[in-house]
Amino acid sequence: MPPRTIDLNDNITLVDAEYQYPGLAATYIVREGDAAAIIETGTTHTVPMILAALEARGLSNEQVQYVIPTHVHLDHACGAGALIEQCPNARLVIHPRGARHMIDPSKLVAGTIAVYGEEKFHALYGDLVPVPEERVIEAPDNFEISLNQRIFRFLDTPGHALHHFSVHDLESNGVFTGDTFGLSYPNLKTPAGPFIFATTTPVQFDPEQLHASIDRLMDLKPDYFYLTHFGRVEARQELADQLKTSIDDFVNIALQEKKTPNRVQVIASRILDYLVAGLETMECNCSEDDCRDWLAMDADLNAQGLDVWLNRLEKQRA
Ligand SMILES: [Zn+2]
Repeated sequence: MPPRTIDLNDNITLVDAEYQYPGLAATYIVREGDAAAIIETGTTHTVPMILAALEARGLSNEQVQYVIPTHVHLDHACGAGALIEQCPNARLVIHPRGARHMIDPSKLVAGTIAVYGEEKFHALYGDLVPVPEERVIEAPDNFEISLNQRIFRFLDTPGHALHHFSVHDLESNGVFTGDTFGLSYPNLKTPAGPFIFATTTPVQFDPEQLHASIDRLMDLKPDYFYLTHFGRVEARQELADQLKTSIDDFVNIALQEKKTPNRVQVIASRILDYLVAGLETMECNCSEDDCRDWLAMDADLNAQGLDVWLNRLEKQRA
């Protein structure tokens, strides 16, 4: 089966990572003349799909110059090593805090197994290939690279993770936001526009940092955000406001339940109710059951991340 792709503006192609389900995680190919950059990699299982999409657009593996995961969570970075192996001229561009995890992925694997469990891990991600150190470029804040004169500027955007950057493509005036600008699934689109909410996945969620990072992205006055979960959205202030409200509401739910026994489960179920209610308000035309099925995993992950954040707060205050 050919990969699911969407050709967008300015020679940007979305390739569905087929992570868990179609429509859940995206990767992007950006072409400039005879060169290509790959932003986000999906999992090891995604790599052949990206390479097939390149080939269908007349590009060889040799023409890939950069592989750019926004952060080292595995739905974004897991395929990086395999891509670097198969694209002999490509270099990995990564946040300085993420580089060592790409060179030696063992800690990353252990950390992800702690979240998902061993069995699910292998089905979801496959085997991780380490990236040779000499092919790694660390991109600190405001670092730039050029793809045939097309400039990508890297912005340190913590809040979801400390090893997270966002990639400003000056040519399209769009930003590849990874998980910093939240989650907005096309199949939950509503007549009132996209439904968007923050991801607070373990283990480095920080609400203040996330607010600041979102403001910083909006300050660029971009035309589009390219979300990993999932696809292109217009960079409108209403969307940023909706996203920032969700951060505050998640934090309030977590704080209200901080003393509740089994707080992770309680927070997860309240987040799921909150999201479904938000979709209802926006008159989403999916059934409530479909919305719940689709969002249950994100509600669980958000609750786990909020629990880690509460633990950190409690430690700081002790
Ligand atoms: Zn993600």
